[in-house]
Parts: sequence; structure tokens; C-alpha cells
Amino acid sequence: MAVASDRPLICLYILEMGDSAPRPLGAASRWWLNRSLSELAASLEAIGGSLVLRAGPAERVLATLIQETGAEAVFWNRRYSLPERETDAAIKKALKDKGIECQSFNGRLLMEPWELKTGSGGWYKVFTPFWRALQASYKAPAPLAAPKQIKAAAADSEALSSWKLHPEKPDWSGGLAEAWTPGERGAMDRLEAFLDGPVSRYADTRNLPGEPDGTSRLSPHLRFGEIGPAQVWRAVQARLAAGRVDENSARVFLSEIVWREFSYTLLYYNPGLATDNYNANFNRMGWRRSDADYTAWSRGRTGYPIVDAGMRELWHTGWMHNRVRMIVASMLTKHLLLPWQKGEEWFWDTLVDADPASNPASWQWTAGSGADAAPYFRVFNPISQGQKFDSAGDYVRRWCPELARLPDKYLHAPFEADAQTLSKADVKLGTTYPKPIIDHAVGRQRALDAYKALKEDQ
Ligand code: FAD
Repeated sequence: MAVASDRPLICLYILEMGDSAPRPLGAASRWWLNRSLSELAASLEAIGGSLVLRAGPAERVLATLIQETGAEAVFWNRRYSLPERETDAAIKKALKDKGIECQSFNGRLLMEPWELKTGSGGWYKVFTPFWRALQASYKAPAPLAAPKQIKAAAADSEALSSWKLHPEKPDWSGGLAEAWTPGERGAMDRLEAFLDGPVSRYADTRNLPGEPDGTSRLSPHLRFGEIGPAQVWRAVQARLAAGRVDENSARVFLSEIVWREFSYTLLYYNPGLATDNYNANFNRMGWRRSDADYTAWSRGRTGYPIVDAGMRELWHTGWMHNRVRMIVASMLTKHLLLPWQKGEEWFWDTLVDADPASNPASWQWTAGSGADAAPYFRVFNPISQGQKFDSAGDYVRRWCPELARLPDKYLHAPFEADAQTLSKADVKLGTTYPKPIIDHAVGRQRALDAYKALKEDQ
């Protein structure tokens, strides 16, 4: 729209700061943002534009820029967390009062939270009817052509490096850089590569963390708006129409894209999603406090290989496979009985796809406090989950190399191996690899008792 208006453009990114700013980005997200902005700047420059960077409270930054440049109109994509909505509403009002044109758009979601309503006019609290309703009513709009040329208006920019988004002293980002190519090109390449083959096996491979192309790994690209869900939807539909992908797998993949939409609906109608139990009964939950257990969990030293592999994958690459996210979250909130908010915060800091809606919604889902949540009695068994979803042990051997020489039979439960097997594999429990932080049966029972007490108190 802004390009179509044929006016000179200022392409602006505001790094929001101050009391009105949304939740500050975690360290891995800051790394991603740095790369993503530098890619965006290069793409704009290639078509005659430039990216203007300013840090500060959004309303003030915009007012200053308008004063400096005499800008007559402002265009932006809508946002859904409460601080963002409040800021954007205040900006809209202030600009309109000054006679400046404002237009906002949906650039992030298939359908915005107020668009999809139940028969009685409420919002969906359960995923399956939400998914059905979205399929019945959503039509992906035709894409606008990417601009070939932009007329840039002059405006000063801060230097990206001055924002210090890239970690220094130490620079721990080597593993992230190996794993990812932030930016629109990286996002499109990943989508194409996934749709050109792996998507047709998705129904079978999506739960296998050792499978390199088992899932799309589009999450950080979607999180940072380098690709939109409507682009993904259209690309999948086009291949379905051409009979080029397995129909069942492609639909399962689209349903996962819609879990992201569902999370945004939950965030929109529950602004405290990242801190407050959706189910208020959980306010009485007898969570434990244990710094030692939390540290062991976050550093990948619980003594349960599938959990430790996941936490190390996260630390090294800024991402973790969905099946393993569920297992590690269950370990934290059930076996260790630590509050889900602690896990949510750790993920917020370490995930490159840390998302203000999907992260808290998924944590609450696993803990049992969320909307349409996993039932309280569902305590993942970290041994059998490992054996089932990493049966050949590729994933655990990659991230816990100290266990690599154990036979498959004991890989997911080294503590069940006899002394001779451990010694042959060079594993010394408690020295080269931790003993289990808690016995599975004991942890499971403690979780069940705590959750049961919660129900009985009602
Ligand atoms: P694919 O399987 O290829 O799915 C395609 C896309 O669908 C993903 O990129 C993502 O945008 C969306 N998606 C898939 N599964 C889910 C889901 N369960 N909920 C919401 N969206 C989904 N996802 C995030 O994007 N950011 C988070 O901060 C986040 N935190 C999570 C925390 C926990 C405890 C759990 C259990 C899950 C979390 N997820 C989060 C959901 C899911 O794990 C990731 O979206 C997925 O692993 C990303 O990998 P992918 O792109 O290969 O997914």
C-alpha cells in the first residue's frame, strides 16, 4: 500500500524501549533480529530503499521522525499482545489528531483473533473446532507483487551495531550461525526445500527428532515475519491442487500452522498468558522451588538422555524439536514440579523462535494449566518417549556424545545398564554422565498427587 501510494518512503524499524515496550527479547532472539535486520536492509538497498533504525518508546520515535521529515502517512502491521495493542492504539490516535494518515494491516496471521468466532459469538477455547472453522472460512488472499523499486525519503538511521544485539564476550552464537540463515531469502529457501519433498512424509516424521528434515524449521522465520503464514498456506494449497504432495501429510502440516493462530487467539483474549495460569485452579498448585533442579534441567544434566539431548540442542542451536519440547516441559513441570513460568522464561531467552503467543500457550498446555491442555495425569515417561521417538538413538548420540557407545537397549536409560555394559561404553554414571535427578516412578507419583490435590480442593 505504501509503495503503491508512490510517495517517497521511510522504511522504519523501531527497537522499542521504555515503560510501554513489549516484553524485551531474549538473547537468542536478539541474535536473530540482528541478522534479520541486516538482511532486510540489504534487500531494501537493492531496490533503491534503505532501512531506518531508531530505538526508544515507539510513540516518541515516530513523533520525532515525523517532525524531522514531514511524513504524511504511516503504515504498519498489526500486533496482538496487550502492550503492543495499547502502544499502537495510542499512536493511531495521536497521529490522527495531527491529521496524519494511518493504515494498519494483518501481516502475521491467517485470521486475526476477532475474525474467527464460535456460533455464539465467543472465541474458540478448543483447538479442533477452531481448526475446522478456520478451514471452512479462510481464503488466502492473492499475494501482492514484491516492489521492484522504492523511492527512499532521506532520514537518519542509528547504526545496527550500536544496538549490540550480537553477543560479545563471550560470543556464544557459533552454533546458531551454523544452524540458521535468518532473512527472507533463508525463509523462502527453507519453505521450498520442505515442500519439494519432506512435507509428504510429515505425518510420519514430525515426531522424530533425529530426522533432519522431519519438520520445516520455519518457526523463527515466521516469528520474525520473514515469511507469513498466508504464504505458507498458499504454497501448500498450490501443491495440493497440483497433486504434488501427500494430502494427509500436507493437511497435518497446515494444522500445525493453525496451532500458531490458536496461540495468538489465546494471547489476545488472555493478555497475561506468559505469567498467569489460564486455569485459575493452578494458582493453588504446590510448585516446588529448587535452584539445583532447575539448573540441572536447563543445562541438560538431568540424567534422562532424551531430556538432556533436547536442552543441549536448544543451547547450541537456539531451537528444539517439538516432541522433545513437550518431553522436557513435562519433566520440569511434572517430575520436578517446578512452575511452568520458569521453563517459559528459559525458552524465551534461548529459543530463536521464542514467540509471545506460542511459547506461553505451549508451556501452559504441557503443564495442564492452559486452554485445551494436556490432561493433568499425562506425565511423559522420558525413557519410553526416547525409545519410541528416537529408537535408533541418532538424536541422543548427537547431543549426548558421552553416551554414544551405549547399546540402543540402554541408551535412553543408562542407569538400567549393568556395570560391564557401562564400562565397555566408557560411561561412569555420576562422573561422565549424571545419575537421574529423580526416579521416574517417584516423580510421576509426586506429580499425580499434587495435581490430584488441586482437583480435590475445588
Ligand atoms: P513444523 O512442525 O514444521 O510446523 C510448522 C509451523 O507451525 C511452525 O514453524 C510453527 O510456526 C507452527 N507450529 C507448529 N507446532 C506448533 C505448536 N504446537 N504451537 C504453535 N505453533 C506451532 N513454537 C514457536 O514458534 N515459538 C515458541 O516459542 C514455542 N515454544 C514452545 C514451547 C513448548 C514447551 C512447546 C511444547 C512447544 C513450543 N512451540 C513454540 C511449538 C513448536 O514446538 C514449534 O513451533 C516447532 O517445534 C517449530 O518447529 P518447525 O518450524 O519445524 O515446526
